[in-house]
Amino acid sequence: MRTALAGFSHETNTFSSVPATYERFQVLRGDEIPRRHENAHSSLTGLIEVGRERAMGLVPLLYASTGPIGMISKDAFDRIVGEMLAMIRDQGPWDAVLLANHGAAVSEEYSDVDGEIAARVRAIVGPRVPIGMAMDLHGNITQRMIEQATVVTFYRENPHVDARERARECAEIVHRTVVGEVRPAMALETPPLVINIVKQHTGSEPLKSLMAECEAVIRRPGMLSASVIQGYPYADVPEMGMGFLAVADGDPALAREMARHLARRAWEMREQFVGHTPSPREALARAAQAERGPVVLMDVGDNIGGGSTADSTFLLAEAQRMGVRSYLQTLYDPEAVQACARAGVGAELTLKVGGKTDDRHGEPVEVTGHVRVLGDGKFEELKPIHGGGRYSDQGLTAVLDTTDGHTLVLTSRRAGNTSIQQMYSVGVQPERYKVVVAKGVQSPRPAYEPIAAEIVLVNTPGVTSSDLSSFEYKRRRRPLFPFEREATYP
Ligand SMILES: [Zn+2]
Repeated sequence: MRTALAGFSHETNTFSSVPATYERFQVLRGDEIPRRHENAHSSLTGLIEVGRERAMGLVPLLYASTGPIGMISKDAFDRIVGEMLAMIRDQGPWDAVLLANHGAAVSEEYSDVDGEIAARVRAIVGPRVPIGMAMDLHGNITQRMIEQATVVTFYRENPHVDARERARECAEIVHRTVVGEVRPAMALETPPLVINIVKQHTGSEPLKSLMAECEAVIRRPGMLSASVIQGYPYADVPEMGMGFLAVADGDPALAREMARHLARRAWEMREQFVGHTPSPREALARAAQAERGPVVLMDVGDNIGGGSTADSTFLLAEAQRMGVRSYLQTLYDPEAVQACARAGVGAELTLKVGGKTDDRHGEPVEVTGHVRVLGDGKFEELKPIHGGGRYSDQGLTAVLDTTDGHTLVLTSRRAGNTSIQQMYSVGVQPERYKVVVAKGVQSPRPAYEPIAAEIVLVNTPGVTSSDLSSFEYKRRRRPLFPFEREATYP
């Protein structure tokens, strides 16, 4: 057996001002792929594990990814996908293809990059070779993707601590297909429904019971897999919204019935998917009055994992105005890091931090403080965190203790707050603070839930704001709930 392993993974925030150019992608080739993903918890980890266990003759070809920034340039798409497809074409024939994609990739040319890739791979390998895709639940999934692939699996947990497990499920089904044990039949339902980002935690209601229903569907006789796809509202594409996928064994009617069943359940719950969150001022007041800390404030509008700038200052500026002390946060600000590095450890300086990428994430804030630590910004996480990565590098990092009683961890590269090691690696103990800001919605939970007295989602402005009325959509379908409350689903 010979199986091609590849992937092109991007969550495209079409409202972001930072384009996903070729240079911004990390491209792994050949054995670099297992070297980076072995003993981790990512989708690739799961695909590689099953590929080996089942002797699928895995040939790692190419895997390209970058942070969830803006539109993929035509040049980046052509070069990366071109190279990936040439490898699949030139190194075949294959018994199977495994792809680790995201599901919300948009390029200048294609609103459905993942469907386009699936179609091109299908054209190369022909109709009989199984293609498995292991994807993120934040995809905007299209019928085209489902028609071109043989089986598609999605994370079922948000935060995404099950990336490896779900990819294992995908590879197992592909293997069973190759050996003739099963014949996957997929069906996708896409009711006109958007779930607010602040309602996406799969461990809480309303999703908790919907996910339990999904698990019940999977356990039914004749079923191979099922997914509740949450969609990605920051990609302005026709397919934006939730999706419900069922994979049955050789029974398209059962798959249709089950996809429809899950979609109907979600549609009945739609009012519960609308988000309501406190303002920065309300959230900070609540945190300041809390009996014990740390109160972790999720900076929803600056969700780095959702394509934001990582340098939003709305919470910091408000905390300064309100005199909230014992406050910790990260800020992407390479210029400020350089200023701290020039001043040196122990030096005191006054500088402006954050709010420098664009005009949607607050003004730079003037602070005075002393440099506590300078670090190389590299850290390693062995626990299964959101997305399952192991190695992180946020570039030269400065820890600044300000006269306002704030600690700012200033980074040279955009890095999400998904690992507590980000703090420990520069000697910062978040447990000791009253207020800790985490830039994200669900992704920081595995890192901060174990130490948080309370987690509060905050309605901060920005390109990932939970206030979806702040975005100007041009391409999304209409009507779509909750934008158009009259939307119906028969
Ligand atoms: Zn995701």
